[in-house]
Amino acid sequence: MSHSTPRVGFVSLGCPKALVDSERILTQLRAEGYGISATYQDADLVVVNTCGFIDAAVEESLDAIGEALEENGRVIVTGCLGAESHKVLDAYPNVLAVTGPHAYEQVMSEVHQHLPPLHDPHIDLIPPQGVRLTPRHYAYLKISEGCNHRCSFCIIPSLRGDLVSRPIGEVLQEAENLVQAGVKELLVISQDTSAYGVDTKYRTGFWGGKPLKTHIQTLAEALGAMGVWVRLHYVYPYPHVDRLLPLMAEGSILPYLDIPFQHASPRILKAMRRPAHAEKVLTRLQAWRAQCPDMAVRSTFIVGFPGETEADFETLLEFLQEARLDRVGAFAYSAVEGAAANTLTGAVPEAVKEERLERFMAVQAEISAEKLGRMIGRELEVLVDAVEDGMSVARSYRDAPEIDGQVLVEGVALPVGERVRVRVTHADEHDLWATPL
Ligand code: SF4
Repeated sequence: MSHSTPRVGFVSLGCPKALVDSERILTQLRAEGYGISATYQDADLVVVNTCGFIDAAVEESLDAIGEALEENGRVIVTGCLGAESHKVLDAYPNVLAVTGPHAYEQVMSEVHQHLPPLHDPHIDLIPPQGVRLTPRHYAYLKISEGCNHRCSFCIIPSLRGDLVSRPIGEVLQEAENLVQAGVKELLVISQDTSAYGVDTKYRTGFWGGKPLKTHIQTLAEALGAMGVWVRLHYVYPYPHVDRLLPLMAEGSILPYLDIPFQHASPRILKAMRRPAHAEKVLTRLQAWRAQCPDMAVRSTFIVGFPGETEADFETLLEFLQEARLDRVGAFAYSAVEGAAANTLTGAVPEAVKEERLERFMAVQAEISAEKLGRMIGRELEVLVDAVEDGMSVARSYRDAPEIDGQVLVEGVALPVGERVRVRVTHADEHDLWATPL
């Protein structure tokens, strides 16, 4: 097969529990950029989720594996029959791998091994480390594909096309399946989360027998009712984002907003052709914080964009000082093949870009240290990601996995995947330290 996108075929057999496993694996495959193929011929490999409950189910599963091998040749077996791997391997020694039921992590690592994901830092929503594998307790929920904007440094619209929102019923069903499979945190991703539904004219869909508008507010409300952490990424500050604030203030979704501002100089924002660049961001931030004082705002910035003068850069630093953002990522501009910005004049020399990036990060490090320092003594709910060398590594509502900081609890093994309450004892410019309550 020769696709730009690696494609996986999927055969799902068995009971509703196996179906939930299949949906979890499919969700993760999609979030990591794999295509799902409807035919054997079009797939680079096939995952067969089997059933081994009764003899007839074993027969059916073995037949399905045989068919997939014959039609495609590259097969990973998972599910209940996989628990008795000899039955599979005796019949089909040439399968790529066999894993047991509810072995979502192993299936994904076998897929990675036999069909590595394509990771393109310019178009992927999940951080490169995230491709590794999300643990069982959090999952990315992709709500749309493509983008209606045409930012001059970005090639996503030419690669992925205009915005296509997934039906709200389908998204919510996927979210519910994930929650049933043990997910405690849903990370909502898309290229432009606040634009969800624009392409469908906010069409009414259905879920749980109820009509629901394809709209980010409706989606956030429904996800918020599922009792897990809901974190929104890539939210542009369109006016209707204000309507999400009450949900954050009342605690039904996390008071965390990931808004990629990219710059603050109006001239540069215009050259970048950024969405919502004319919104009065500082005033909005102030109003949001008045409504939800604990809100954590994360953003990303590009320094050294073509034409950026020292004055533009200073405007950006002033914005940073005033905005007091909680989490910030920054990059020195680098041209992406095919991007409109490549034709702009006024390239900033590499040394200047690097120097600006350092100055930018130094300003933010101070802000971040001051903001985290203010957390000392506070009580927080954290989600435990891992226990390493006797230390529990957790995150609070302020920390998205892989990209933000952590809450470290030394000398105690807290239950992984569970939410626990801690008190903050210490902080640096990235992370917090805490003791359990
Ligand atoms: S909003 Fe801009 S940067 Fe984001 S995907 Fe769309 S075109 Fe690219």
